[in-house]
Amino acid sequence: MIPGQFTYHRPSSLAEAVALLASHGDEARPLAGGHSLIPMMKLRMAAPEHLVDLAGIADLKGICEDGGTIVIGATTTQHEVIASALLASKLPILRETALLIADPQIRYVGTIGGNVANGDPGNDMPALMQCLDASYVLVGPSGERHVAAREFYEAAYFTALSPDEIVAAIRIPVPAAGHGYAYEKLKRKVGDYATAAAAVMLTRSGHQITSCSIGLTNVADTPLFAEEAGRILTGSSMEADVVTRAVAAAEAITNPASDGRGPAEYRTRMAGVMLRRALARAYDRAAA
Ligand code: FAD
Repeated sequence: MIPGQFTYHRPSSLAEAVALLASHGDEARPLAGGHSLIPMMKLRMAAPEHLVDLAGIADLKGICEDGGTIVIGATTTQHEVIASALLASKLPILRETALLIADPQIRYVGTIGGNVANGDPGNDMPALMQCLDASYVLVGPSGERHVAAREFYEAAYFTALSPDEIVAAIRIPVPAAGHGYAYEKLKRKVGDYATAAAAVMLTRSGHQITSCSIGLTNVADTPLFAEEAGRILTGSSMEADVVTRAVAAAEAITNPASDGRGPAEYRTRMAGVMLRRALARAYDRAAA
């Protein structure tokens, strides 16, 4: 299939891009890497009449540290996330997760902003952003607002983003030095979306977990922040019965579809398996 007809716009400023989206309303969509949007247009699951390409907007690119916050411009590619020395030292879970997305060709073009804005429960970055307590900087005709990743996702492909808003950047609090982290993803083959995946960030003092945050990918209509599971683990020393209770709490909030990746019961159980593996690796990596 080829996409339907559309008018291509290439603004050079954020203000111009927002004005284009505002003037064309529901008929317009931002275009970033195009690796989710164009396939959907080819399948006629999306048929925007106007594409507003964000690639020419310099303000949307780059990775920097602002006080205790990492700021990643929306059109930063997944490859640039992987290559960033700043992220490798401060937020290595981002690199670990990005390396599990699709394949190098897609990662060279696909952007982090497109990944979080898309609203596809199969995207890997949204659950990680919930785990990291990130917030998204949204820019629209009435200015800028910040929405927490934990509040952003409403249903599959439905988010807090208005049609005339653009995700300009992602803001992530710098985690404590010595934190443990892991992203575990089960997929049928290289390049596939997750059957189930789990992101874990934790800190330790000796054997005891002092904080624990968990996100789950592709086991519901939206990414999941497994708050209760993290609470159960905090204060524990990863005793087997506590881990089992935490995994059960995480599995209990899943509601996956039965599809080509397996029946719902299997995918729920795999979310638990991914979480167990991620917890073990994060715990081992954390400075005691
Ligand atoms: P686009 O496709 O350009 O846009 C996606 C959506 O977000 C569109 O609705 C667009 O209007 C909107 N949008 C884009 N940028 C913004 C913005 N800044 N503000 C507001 N709205 C915006 N992803 C994974 O996470 N894990 C995988 O395993 C995975 N496997 C893949 C395998 C294949 C074969 C393919 C083709 C893609 C795969 N992807 C996967 C998706 C890939 O990571 C996409 O690049 C990503 O989902 C979207 O980023 P993009 O820059 O390409 O966005």
